[in-house]
Amino acid sequence: MTLSFNPDSVPVPSGHHIGGRFVDLPGEEIAVLRPSDEKPMGQITDGGAVAVDMAVVAAKKALAETGWARMNPRDRAKVLFRFAEKIEEKAIYLGRLEAMGSSRLISGTVTGDAVRTAGVVRYFAEYCDKLEGIVTATKADTLSYTRREPYGIAGAIVPWNFPMITAAWKFAPALAAGNAVIMKTSELTPHSLLALAECAAEAGLPGGLFNVINGWGHTTGAAIVAHPAIGIVSFTGSTKTGAAIMSLAANSGIKPVVLELGGKSPQIVTHDPGDMETVATRVATAFMANAGQVCTLASRLIVQRSVADELVERVLAKARVIKPGPTWDETTTFAPIISATQFNRIDAMVQQTVQQGAEVLTGGQRLEGPNAGNFYAPTVLANVSRDNLGFTDEFFGPVMNVTTFDDIEEAIAEAQHPTYGLAASVHTQDLKVALKVADAVEAGMVWVNQHGRDPEFTYAAGGWKGAGFGKDMGRAGIEEFTRQKAVWINYN
Ligand code: NAD
Repeated sequence: MTLSFNPDSVPVPSGHHIGGRFVDLPGEEIAVLRPSDEKPMGQITDGGAVAVDMAVVAAKKALAETGWARMNPRDRAKVLFRFAEKIEEKAIYLGRLEAMGSSRLISGTVTGDAVRTAGVVRYFAEYCDKLEGIVTATKADTLSYTRREPYGIAGAIVPWNFPMITAAWKFAPALAAGNAVIMKTSELTPHSLLALAECAAEAGLPGGLFNVINGWGHTTGAAIVAHPAIGIVSFTGSTKTGAAIMSLAANSGIKPVVLELGGKSPQIVTHDPGDMETVATRVATAFMANAGQVCTLASRLIVQRSVADELVERVLAKARVIKPGPTWDETTTFAPIISATQFNRIDAMVQQTVQQGAEVLTGGQRLEGPNAGNFYAPTVLANVSRDNLGFTDEFFGPVMNVTTFDDIEEAIAEAQHPTYGLAASVHTQDLKVALKVADAVEAGMVWVNQHGRDPEFTYAAGGWKGAGFGKDMGRAGIEEFTRQKAVWINYN
C-alpha cells in the first residue's frame, strides 16, 4: 500500500476541543498553511483567557464528577488503553494530518508518530498503579510516609516540530497520574492535536479531562501559564519562551514548570569511529532529519583531524542526494521548513554567521523544491568561532558547524556550550573515550555510537542549563505530574 495521499482529500478539524467536544469561540482568526505548498490548511481562532477559563471549568467539573484522581488506578488505565487503541485505529488519518500540517514526512508519520503516540499513551497507562511513595525512618510509634498526588489541572504547551509526539509526552503522563489537562500546541500546527483530543473523547475519556485550545503563545499560552487553577505547566519550545514562561509562572502565584528547551548539541567523532560510511550516514541524518527541525539536532560536528577530510567529504556527498518534496509524497526524503518566517530566520542567521567569518562547505541558500514550500539546503559551515552567532544561537534548521581536534580533552572542551546542554554524542570504538566523554560533557542526554535515541518510552529526555530542566518520558516523566505529600502519624 502506498502511503502517499492527496492532501485536499483529508478532513481537517476546527475549533477548540473543550469538555470533550469541538467548540467554536470568537477570537482573532489565524490562518494555518501547509508547509509543503503554503496553501491554506485551515483556520483557528485565538482562544485567549476566555477559552482557558472555559477549559478550567470543564476540567474542574470532570475531576469532581468522575473522581479521576481518586478512582482505582486500573480503571484509569483501562480508559487510557482504549484511547491508545483509538489512536492506532486512526493512525492513517492522524499520520496524514500530521504530514499535511507540519514538516513531518508521511513515510514516518503513520507507523512512526501516530503509532508511537499510541505507544506513549499505553506506556503511561501501565504506570497508573505503579506510582509509589516511601515510608521513612523515624522513632518508634510513628509512621512517616510520602505519597504522590496529582496537581489537579496540568497545563501543557508544545511546539510545531513533532506536534503529536511532544504533546503525548505531556498529556499521557499527566492523565495517567490523575490530572486533567489543558493543552496548547503551536499556532502553526494545531490540527493533529485536535484530532487526538477527539480520539480521547471517542475512546470514552470523560469530557473535560483533556482539553485542547488554540491560539497565539503570548495570549492563549500566557493565559494557561497565569491561570490560578492550573497547578503545573509543562512546556516544550525555545529557550527564550521558556524563560518568559518561568517568569510568568513565578509572577502569577508561583507554580512549578517543566522546561524542555533548545539545544546546540555536539557530536564528537574520534579517529576510530568504526565503519566510516556508517558513521557518515549517522552524522548526516543527525543534522538533516526533519530538515534540522529537531531540538537534539547535531548542529556541531567535532571530528578528529586525522579522519576529518574523509568524514566531511562523505557527509557532503549525502547532503547532495536528498529529495525535497511535499510531505504527503512517500518518496520525499527532505522536509520543508515549517514557515516562511522560520526559513527567513535560518537564512539570515547563516548569512550573518558567514559575515562573521564562517566558510560555507555546502548549502547556505534556498533549495528549489517541486512546490511553493520553503526548503533550505543542507548547510555545512567551517571556521565558526565561539563568539560567532552561528555558535552561540540555535539555527533550528539543517545547518551544522564542523570543528577539528587533536586530543579528546580538546574535543570535550569544544563540546561544552556556554548556554545549552540538551544532548551530545560520541562515535568511537574506544570504550574509555566513550565513558570519558559521557562523564565530562555538560548535557542532559549523551549517546554513544548514535546521535539520538531509539524510540523507547523508558528513556527520560531532558536538558541541562539553557536547555531547561525536568524530564519527558520514563518514570521521571510521570513523576513530574505529581507532587509529594509527607504524612506524619504519631500512634503512641
Ligand atoms: P516557541 O518557543 O516559539 O513556541 C513553543 C510554544 O510556546 C508554542 O505553542 C507557542 O505558541 C508558545 N508560546 C510562545 N510564546 C509564549 C508565551 N509568551 N507564553 C506561553 N506560550 C508561548 O518554539 P517553537 O518555535 O514552536 O519550537 C522550536 C523550539 O522548540 C526550538 O528552540 C527547539 O529546540 C525547541 N524544542 C525543544 C524540545 C525538547 O525536548 N527540549 C523538543 C522540541 C522542540
